[in-house]
Amino acid sequence: MKIEKKIFQKFLGEKDLWDTPQRELILDTFLQREGHISAEELYDIVKKRDSSIGQATVYRMLKLLTEAKLAREVDFGDNVKRYEQDYNHPHHDHFVCRGCGKTVEVVNSLIEELQQKIAKQYGFELTDHAMYLYGFCEDCRKKNSKKQ
Ligand SMILES: [Zn+2]
Ligand SMILES: [Zn+2]
Repeated sequence: MKIEKKIFQKFLGEKDLWDTPQRELILDTFLQREGHISAEELYDIVKKRDSSIGQATVYRMLKLLTEAKLAREVDFGDNVKRYEQDYNHPHHDHFVCRGCGKTVEVVNSLIEELQQKIAKQYGFELTDHAMYLYGFCEDCRKKNSKKQ
C-alpha cells in the first residue's frame, strides 16, 4: 500500500471517520496526478470512474487531504482554489503567467534564507509561507509583441 494511503487511513481513524471506496478513488486519482488541480477538475475525472461521487464529496475530501498534509492549497490569483501534493513534495514557490495561466515552480535558497532572516528580525518563527510572482511568460510576451 502506498504510504500516502496509510497516512490517510491513520488520519481518518483519528477523526473517527470511515474510509470508503469513494474516498479511496478520489485519493488514488489525486495521487496519480502531479501538478496543480482544482476541485472541479478532480471531480470531472472521478465522476467518470464512479458516477455516484458527488461534487460535495470531492470538496470535502480535498479539505481532509489538506488537513492530513497530503495536499496543500495553491492560489494563482484567479479565484480558483487549486491543490498540489504535499507529502514528499518539497516546498516551492510559483511564477504565474497572467496571460495563459502557466505556472513554473521555483526554489531559491537565497530567498528562502532571507525570509528566515527577516522573520527573525521581526520576532517571527516561520512555519510556512507561499510566494506567488505574477507576470507574463515568454510565449505570451512574444505573442503580444507580434500583435503590435
Ligand atoms: Zn503565458
Ligand atoms: Zn506547485
